[in-house]
Amino acid sequence: MLRKWRANIRKVEPYIPGEQPKGEKIIKLNTNENPYGPSPMIRQVQEDPENLRLYPDPAAEDLVNAIAAYHGVDRDQVFVGVGSDDVLAMAFLTFFNSWKPILFPDITYSFYNVWAELFRIPYKRPELAQDFRIRPKDYYQENGGVVFPNPNAPTGICEDLDFIRDILDHNTDVIVIIDEAYIDFGGRSALELLPQYENLLIVRTFSKSRSMAGLRIGYAIGNPELIRAIQDVKYSFNSYTMNRPSLLLGTVSLKDEAYFKETIDKIISTRTWFEREMKHLGFSFPDSQANFIFATHEKIPARDIFEAAKAAGIYVRHFSQYRIDNYLRITIGTDAQMKALLSFLETYISEWERR
Ligand code: PMP
Repeated sequence: MLRKWRANIRKVEPYIPGEQPKGEKIIKLNTNENPYGPSPMIRQVQEDPENLRLYPDPAAEDLVNAIAAYHGVDRDQVFVGVGSDDVLAMAFLTFFNSWKPILFPDITYSFYNVWAELFRIPYKRPELAQDFRIRPKDYYQENGGVVFPNPNAPTGICEDLDFIRDILDHNTDVIVIIDEAYIDFGGRSALELLPQYENLLIVRTFSKSRSMAGLRIGYAIGNPELIRAIQDVKYSFNSYTMNRPSLLLGTVSLKDEAYFKETIDKIISTRTWFEREMKHLGFSFPDSQANFIFATHEKIPARDIFEAAKAAGIYVRHFSQYRIDNYLRITIGTDAQMKALLSFLETYISEWERR
């Protein structure tokens, strides 16, 4: 029987998050989590369960103030949400309302096109150059908005401030969103450009450098007019986005700068030696300023390595997407985890060569 109601169901092709396998022995290098855990300071605080009967502060004032103080901006320049995914989705809904297509690279965070489809925002995806760099000229055309991560994901390539300035100078009539999910791992933030560009929105997360992916905290910083607009959209959708434990623990984690720096330095130094070892094994990859590398092997197809590693309990990420299906995105874990991966790869590659 023909069911007429089917015609009214929204059909979307959802974003597919990386697997979250369970098991103690698994080495999980597939979703860019931070191996070191959040600041130990958060162990000293706990939300009183009695308070859980109360709604959280809809304005998330404590967390907003702490983020504003941390970055030296005003509190009316900060918007918080349930991970940067929520912040980005709200930003798409708020700022991309033109009939002109928004622009983002063909190879980038694969949630952008999902939100564009969901919200029926027209979009174009200019191709990255052969070396996976963004070609600024592609962003000189008329558009309804611009969004890209810096460093880009999954390539790990970070552009400098001159590059960001150039994009902004050519896009003064639209909102430009820079997704800085991975900026703490070596890149230079565009935050210092905010005073000069009122159409710039910077999105950040606690999931990677602050190691709090499980709490879901993201934020945006921009000029107060943009922040008011995105807040209006949020309050038209769900007032209580942030839960009480997240508000409390997120605020506390911002106080522990020493731990934050120490764990980031560890990840960067692990990345440096891991890259060296990977080159010896025949891998190549763009220079990464993120907590992952995007690697391809000179002989062995990425999918084969991905499957074999998974069978051995080591999870990395493989995207079955045109242009990047011969690459693996490998999160930087602890030294011990990376050593385990390297020793797996060494054995796998030598067996492969003997075949
Ligand atoms: N932006 C980019 C580029 C990402 O890779 C991710 C992680 N999947 C996010 C945003 C979202 O992260 P979260 O929602 O955990 O803040």
